[in-house]
Formats: sequence, structure tokens, C-alpha cells
Amino acid sequence: MKPVIGVLALQGDVREHVAALEVAGARAITVRRPTELAAIDGLVLPGGESTTIDKLLRIFELFDPLRAAIAAGLPVYGSCAGMILLADRVLGATHDQQTLGGLDVTVRRNAFGRQVDSFESSVEMAGVPGGPVPAAFIRAPWVEEAGPGVQVLARTRHRGASGPAVPAPDAGPAAGAGEDAGRIVAVRQGTLLATSFHPEITGDARVHELFVAIVKE
Ligand code: GLN
Repeated sequence: MKPVIGVLALQGDVREHVAALEVAGARAITVRRPTELAAIDGLVLPGGESTTIDKLLRIFELFDPLRAAIAAGLPVYGSCAGMILLADRVLGATHDQQTLGGLDVTVRRNAFGRQVDSFESSVEMAGVPGGPVPAAFIRAPWVEEAGPGVQVLARTRHRGASGPAVPAPDAGPAAGAGEDAGRIVAVRQGTLLATSFHPEITGDARVHELFVAIVKE
């Protein structure tokens, strides 16, 4: 039986995740109401704007039920803004920004720079066989710090960013010095999965396949 995976449909690139989930072997439905949470085996928090999604979660009275569902073990995949929403701690948050939490990480919002610094790259990701995953970074966060129970699945190749030829100002001498120098851009903690980047807009469903496998576990 195909698992039923919801895509939080308040704001962001909902349609692309629905399509990628279907390719990855799930039945995808959009989620806007608290009652819809009961019908899903897993949930995707799409990219968009984390501050806006946070506000809408509260307006739609989804914030508390979703927080509780995550704490109770609902598998969730957060992409970009979704990663921010899953993080326990956020650097660069707006003063009233809240997160659903669950993932023991500190993320830095807009870490790679502004909209103009968005870029496409590819990342080697543990648990995703078949070579590097094409990845779009759009005003993306990175994971600044991961707790002991968090598995790091992917890092950028360089400290500043993985794509642009020009390293970020804080790249430092370690830039390009090897894998350990890279920023953390994909993590897993139990049934929670998060990526800084958007795999759903590059036509490669392997990250969604990993999430479907996690949901089936
Ligand atoms: N910068 C956005 C935020 O803070 C995330 C961008 C994205 O999801 N593409 O929510």
C-alpha cells in the first residue's frame, strides 16, 4: 500500500512536492486543516517563507496540533523554509518567529546570502544512492550546529557555499579544504528529515524516495 503523505499547503512550492512524492511512490494530499493530520502517514513542509508559514500555521490553528504530532513521532520532511520550521533553534529569526521544532539543530536563515545569491549545485547525500543530487539553494538556510542525535547527510563542498565561484566573505582559509569544511545542508533525526535546498524543483525524486522509505519504516 502506498503511504499517504501530506504537503502543508499554506504557502510555498506545494505542487512541486506533491508531484515529487507521487513519483517517489506515495499518495500525496495537501494539508490545510488540523483534522487532515489524522489521515497522513508523513508530512512535507515545503520551501517558501518560514515567517509567513509560521504565521499561517497559527491562523489556521495548525501550529499546536502539528507540534504535538511531530513530538508524537509523525515523520516530517522539511525543505528550506521547512527545515527552519523543524529546527529547535534559529539564528536570524524575526522577533516573533516561532518554529514547530523537533529537530535538535541550530539553523541560520538566509545563510548563503540574499535572493541574488541563490544558486544551483549538486550534493552527495548519505542514504541517496546514484550520485550527487541536483539541488537548488534559494535564500537557503544552513545548519550551524547539530545535536548528538542528528545524522549529517550532506554538506556543501566549500565553507561559503557549494555553487558560486566566489566564496562567501566568511569562507576563511578552510574553504575548499575538504568535505569537513562544508556547511551542513541535509540532516536526519529519527523520522525527521531536512534539507537546506529544494530537490523538488530539479526533477529528481530521490530525496523524496528517501523520505517515503523513512515513512514506510
Ligand atoms: N529564506 C526563507 C526563510 O527564511 C527560506 C527560503 C526558501 O524556502 N526557499 O523562510
